[in-house]
Formats: sequence, C-alpha cells, structure tokens
Amino acid sequence: MFHLAKRCERIDASGIRRVFDLAKALKNPINLSIGQPDFDVPAPVKAAAIAAIESGQNTYTPTQGIAELRAQLRHSEQQRSGRNWAEDELIITSGVSGGLFLALLALVEEGDEVIIPDPYFVMYKHLVRLFGGTPVYLDTYNADFGIDPQALEQAISPRSKLLLLNSPANPTGRVLSAEELQAVAAVCKRHHLAVLSDEIYSAFAYEPAPSMSAFYEQTLVLGGYSKSHGMTGWRLGWAAGPAKLIQAMAKIQQYSFVCAPSVTQFASLACPEIDLRQPIAAYREKRDLMVRLLSDTFALAPPQGAFYLWAKPPSPWTGDAFAEAAIKAGVLIIPGSVFSERGSHFRMCYTVPNEILEAGCRKLVELAKAGPS
Ligand code: PMP
Repeated sequence: MFHLAKRCERIDASGIRRVFDLAKALKNPINLSIGQPDFDVPAPVKAAAIAAIESGQNTYTPTQGIAELRAQLRHSEQQRSGRNWAEDELIITSGVSGGLFLALLALVEEGDEVIIPDPYFVMYKHLVRLFGGTPVYLDTYNADFGIDPQALEQAISPRSKLLLLNSPANPTGRVLSAEELQAVAAVCKRHHLAVLSDEIYSAFAYEPAPSMSAFYEQTLVLGGYSKSHGMTGWRLGWAAGPAKLIQAMAKIQQYSFVCAPSVTQFASLACPEIDLRQPIAAYREKRDLMVRLLSDTFALAPPQGAFYLWAKPPSPWTGDAFAEAAIKAGVLIIPGSVFSERGSHFRMCYTVPNEILEAGCRKLVELAKAGPS
C-alpha cells in the first residue's frame, strides 16, 4: 500500500484541471490559454541540436552545466543587467521551473514566509507550500499591479525569507521600471530580505525591462530560453546568484535532475545569434490589436511585456464565471483565481495568428455584453 506524504495535500491542481475538463468537450476551440509562443525553435538552434546528437553529445554533463554555455550566459547577463557573475555564481537548470524548484528547496523551511505579489505565476505558491513555507500574498490590484513599497514593508515579518519578483509578469504583462525596482530594493535592503527574480520574459518587453540584479546584491535571477526561442519542451533555464546558494542548488540538482538536458545545452549555444526583433514586433502588434478590441468592454491595462492580457469583465460578471462561460462558448481563457487570491479577472495569451485573436476577442466582447445567463 502506498501512503502519500502529507506534503502532497498542501498543493492541488484543480484550477487548471477544471479548464482542461471543460475544454475537452469542445471541437475546435479558440485557444488563448496556453502560455507559450507560437513560433517554432529557430532553424540554427535546431541544427545545433541535431549536430549535438550526431556528434555524440548525449551523455551527462557537469551538474552546473557545460562550461561554454555558462560562460556565454554570464556574458549575456552582464550585457543585460551589468551584473558580472563569477564562474561559481551561475547554474544551468531544467527550465526556469527547475531553477525555481532547486532555489525554493534550498531556501524554504517549515514556517518560512515567502512574499508573493498577487497576481502570481501559479507555480510559486505551490512550490513554497510543498516545501513547508507559507505564501504571504502582496495584493497589487491597487498598485497597477506594480509593488507599493509601503505595502511590501507591511508584508515583511521576522519569518520572511524571500520576495518573489516576476517582471515582465505572467499573468499581468506588467514590467517593473528601474525606479520601481530601486524602491523595492531599498525596502529589501533595510530588512535584509533576499529576492528571487523570475525574468523568463525579459526578451518580450515593449519598454525597457531592467533586471532586479542591477539594483540589489541579494538577488537570485532566473532566466531561460523556453519562451524566447520557442523551446518550452527542451527544458533550458539558468539561475545566477550568490555562490553559496548556487552551490546548494547544484548539490540538490546532483541528486535530482542530475543536469539540464545535454543536447539542449549544446543547442542553446546558438540562441544568442537569433534576431528576436521580428517575433517581438509581431507580438506588440497582437497586443495592440487585442487592446483595441477589448478595452471598451473590459477593464485592462495594456500589457508592457510577456504575452498575456489580464482583464476584468464588466459587472455583474466575475472573472471566474466569465472564463467558465467563455470556455463553454469555445474560447479558452484562464480564470483569474488560478493566478490570484481574487477571482475578479481572467488571463488570455495572445500568441496566436491575428485572425484567431480577433475572432476570440469578438466572441469575448459579445459574451461580456450578453451578461451571465
Ligand atoms: N516563470 C514564469 C513566470 C512562467 O510563466 C513560466 C512558464 N509558464 C515559467 C517560469 C517556467 O518556464 P520553463 O519552461 O523555463 O520551466
């Protein structure tokens, strides 16, 4: 008889599962739910992967990742943020999810509090809970989904271990400016609070998206190529931060993931040569199209980055009821309560062809105007 560990009861997957269950009955839904780009892995990166396989790069790699890629990432992080990470301050992980897993397992203990700005990427609260920590939600609805330094200060307690930042953000598309990050850094410094900064969407920004690591020493930066290079299935991410933490993460990686996929690591050496200006311009156009079609009907702030829209339907709809009705009407969107302690909003992902996006937006407007049945 298998008796599951109690920790399994601390997390649940019911929010997303409900969306999938509802969607199963649909024939040809307009799918605005999946958080991934709609372009394939660029040809030079595919070619590098094939070459890696054929030349026998199919074995374990060092736990921290291959030296060439680590050097390349330290260089690109320096160009992006100005931060000069040392050799032992960067580890390659199995996607940003792998980095989040290792970092939170290395840091969070029973009773620790982790401050999570709400709305949040769904994985954060579940991993914190899995490892025995307590998520402390910092409501950002009245701060334009940015971070009010005073509210942050109030959320800090003697048990606070970490602040989890995400800019550009999933699900809101919010980008934190240099001034905002500086204000957050000042509070964290005063309280000796470490920051875990998930910057997976840094390539998708329609205005400057600075890195928290530029402003605050005690930052662990997480980055990855899943989104920027259309390789969500290839599992490539990295974490850069203080050597003590990176070494602890490497120790856990040694006994869990072992290493990030070898072929992906070699293929990723070709990623920096890819010009992302065209796909980013295309997503900016989609953003503009969507905002134009939806902003008369829904309360929303034009997203500044990532590829999501976070919107509130007109009353008397709640975001959750609206998402459920939209899914039944054939437009897959995600109820806000999957990403928030509130259920007032919904999330849609706009990485679909323009005509599909337009058809989806028109249906959402129609449904919002018709009201709940
Ligand atoms: N962080 C955020 C904010 C995300 O949206 C995602 C993917 N949806 C991840 C991390 C995980 O990405 P990866 O594929 O690199 O594990």
